[in-house]
Amino acid sequence: MRMTQRLALLGLGVTLGIGLILAVVQYVSDFQRYKKEFIATQNQIINLIKPSATRAVYVSDNTLAMEVVNGLLRYDFINSAQIEDLNGSVLASSMKPHQSEVRIRWVHGFVGEQFQDFSTELAYKSNFDEVIGRVVYRVDMIRVYDSLYKSSLTHLAGDIFLSLLLISALYIAFYFYFTRPVLRLAEEMKTINFYKPGSRRFTRLTNRSDELGQLVDNGNRLLESVELALDSQRSVEVALRRSEEHLRELIDCLPVYVAARNRSGYIVFANKAWASVFGLNPDQLRYVKFDDVVSASSINVDEILRRDRRVLETKNDFIVAEEQWYNNHNQPLFWQSHYTLFEFNGEEVVLVVSTDISDRKKSEADIAFMAYHDSLTKLPNRVHLVDRLEKELHRSRRHHYYGAVLFIDLDQFKNINDSLGHPVGDVLLIEVARRLEEAVRDEDLVARLGGDEFVLVLTLLDSTMAGAKTKAACVGEKIRACLSEPVYHDNIELRVTCSIGAVLFPEEGVSVHELLRYADTAMYQVKDGGRNSIAFFNESMANVVKTQLLLETQLHKAVEEKQFVLMFQPKVDVKTGHLTGAEVLLRWQHPAKGIVLPGDFIGTLESLGLIVQVGQWLFEQACLYLHNWQQQGIWQTGMKLSINVSPRQFRHTGFVDDVQRTLEKYPFCKNAIDFEVTENVVIGSIEETANIMQQLCDLGVTFSLDDFGTGYSSISYLKNLPVSSLKIDKSFVRDIRIDRNDRVLVESMATMGRLLGLRVVAEGVEEQEQLGLIKEFGCDEYQGFYYRQPMLPEDFKQCLQDICPLVALK
Ligand code: C2E
Ligand code: CA
Ligand code: CA
Repeated sequence: MRMTQRLALLGLGVTLGIGLILAVVQYVSDFQRYKKEFIATQNQIINLIKPSATRAVYVSDNTLAMEVVNGLLRYDFINSAQIEDLNGSVLASSMKPHQSEVRIRWVHGFVGEQFQDFSTELAYKSNFDEVIGRVVYRVDMIRVYDSLYKSSLTHLAGDIFLSLLLISALYIAFYFYFTRPVLRLAEEMKTINFYKPGSRRFTRLTNRSDELGQLVDNGNRLLESVELALDSQRSVEVALRRSEEHLRELIDCLPVYVAARNRSGYIVFANKAWASVFGLNPDQLRYVKFDDVVSASSINVDEILRRDRRVLETKNDFIVAEEQWYNNHNQPLFWQSHYTLFEFNGEEVVLVVSTDISDRKKSEADIAFMAYHDSLTKLPNRVHLVDRLEKELHRSRRHHYYGAVLFIDLDQFKNINDSLGHPVGDVLLIEVARRLEEAVRDEDLVARLGGDEFVLVLTLLDSTMAGAKTKAACVGEKIRACLSEPVYHDNIELRVTCSIGAVLFPEEGVSVHELLRYADTAMYQVKDGGRNSIAFFNESMANVVKTQLLLETQLHKAVEEKQFVLMFQPKVDVKTGHLTGAEVLLRWQHPAKGIVLPGDFIGTLESLGLIVQVGQWLFEQACLYLHNWQQQGIWQTGMKLSINVSPRQFRHTGFVDDVQRTLEKYPFCKNAIDFEVTENVVIGSIEETANIMQQLCDLGVTFSLDDFGTGYSSISYLKNLPVSSLKIDKSFVRDIRIDRNDRVLVESMATMGRLLGLRVVAEGVEEQEQLGLIKEFGCDEYQGFYYRQPMLPEDFKQCLQDICPLVALK
């Protein structure tokens, strides 16, 4: 119900109530007045009729009595009357014949009885006021109060009508002045969105400065402030959102995985990197249960949630050095994660920042693999082999079974490498590795020791030695057969054979290293015997090994105690016969055996790696001698001191630095040093070798290619390596007089050298005829017993001194 209607009803009620009360009060006072007037009229009437009525009783005059009665009935409110004597005999009685209709009879029903009986006693004065009779009459009270009722009702109706009139007028005035504007205001309020008022305002009331007008104005002012406040809030929100977005972009750009989880295990935030692990985007992860995201993968969810709880409870950060995760493709990832407590949207959560350490793990695994495997063939390497063989030795001893170690070396593999290049050589090695693995059982081991050397460990062959030997021989033959099958690569047919040395195990007191050496020895036996075969390690080989072992031990001691001496063999100009320098040759001053020639120990020094140390020592010694002779003025400018450099020494990473350091110590030596190298120094690419040689040439030294003609003698070596001379091997010179082939070879080598602009040196000249021939062939220098044997430094010094005046004289 509207306010106006309520007010109108209230007004109506109040007015009616007040009107009613006033009407009742009016009625009560009028009633009192009417009552008084009625009693007075009644007394007047009684006083009037009383003498006549008394006389009529006294004289029993019925006619008079009747007149009196009729006189009474003339009053319209008296309905009936009778006069009776003391005995109750009625003298006269009368009643109005019909009652006129009174419309307001119902009103009197509320007030009281319609008819009231009254009686007045009649006394005769002369008889001492003796009662002689009485007048009885009935009054119609409605008639008495008729006009009262009428006027009261009229008043009441008038009042009600006036009230209604007043209320209506008030209602209309109130409606137009108050209710309608308020209603409009209320309607407008309904249509205005207070969260987005925009330009909407309450319609102003014209010419209204009262409370309502003020209400509208204040309302508009309020809307304006709301709009302003909203505007500023909106700009703050935009700025906030923008900064949040920036932050988000920043976190998304970071090369780390960021995620936050709450106490109930819901992901409250994740960056792009984290989400992409599961093939999702960050929005898809918001308030998703962590288990639901990762349950598909095999991550240990409980463990991770336990870590979360730990951070939430202890409030301490901690780092997990390595966590394994799986992405949606079930590929493993390795993370290092930092767990920390963080407040996110008013909630304590665990922020986890993880870095991917998969690459590191992979390289660690690769390194671990590389430590135990060969990079080319992926076969186990020496370390792995030794490890495994150790275990196999124990196992075979425990089970009383025999196994075998097969040492396999490809025959003349170097030729393939040199002629077709290393990439082809690598293809062949990989194929050999594959065939070897195919040829043996799973429980056997195939390892590559390096180069073209492979080792097979055949486990648990037989319980008897003879049986094991037969089976090992069988496997050996099978391997020879399968390796001799051609390998096709780039339309080239590659053929390779192998030499196999075998040894059975276990043997009392024989270690893994000894076993390998035995197999190696047996293999060398095969090589010496013409290759492409298999041999088992035997008693005589054992002696070789024993001797070799002894030699090794003694050489270690020799190196420690510097039991070496330098010999010098002069080099001479073929045409002039003048000294052109000398070659330094190493001798071992054996405590028991005396002088030992290099052929008996250089190879072992090389295989033990001691040649690096000894070679450097020799170089320094040679420089020292040279330096002294230079100081003494007996070393002629242009003479060269040749120093043999073994392949292992040449390839040693510190070689160039060692040479440089020594030459810095003896600066005048640098242009007088010549390094003699064989073709074997070229192991990797020829460019690499040339590069090292060039670095040394830049220091002032020269190079000679030693033992030319014995190896592969690639002309490309002569062309591409910075050598200034070549030395024809003594084996060609030896029979030059009698062997036509050697003559041809020496002549062509000399011609080739000359054509390439190199000095040609002939070695091993023992006789004059040999000298004559090499002179004829155009060799520049020679070296040999014909001129001098290798000599001790002091002898060579004498030699220098001897020729010195000779040179000076010329
Ligand atoms: P090489 O470099 O070919 O040295 C020449 C060898 O021929 C020397 O043997 C020398 O004594 C020998 N010789 C010289 N003239 C004649 C001759 O007229 N007839 C015969 N039959 N032989 C002659 P040596 O001193 O026994 O050296 C043998 C090899 O040992 C050398 O051959 C060289 O390859 C190596 N060698 C010697 N000293 C060193 C060294 O200090 N370092 C390295 N790495 N190897 C060395
Ligand atoms: Ca030499
Ligand atoms: Ca030589």
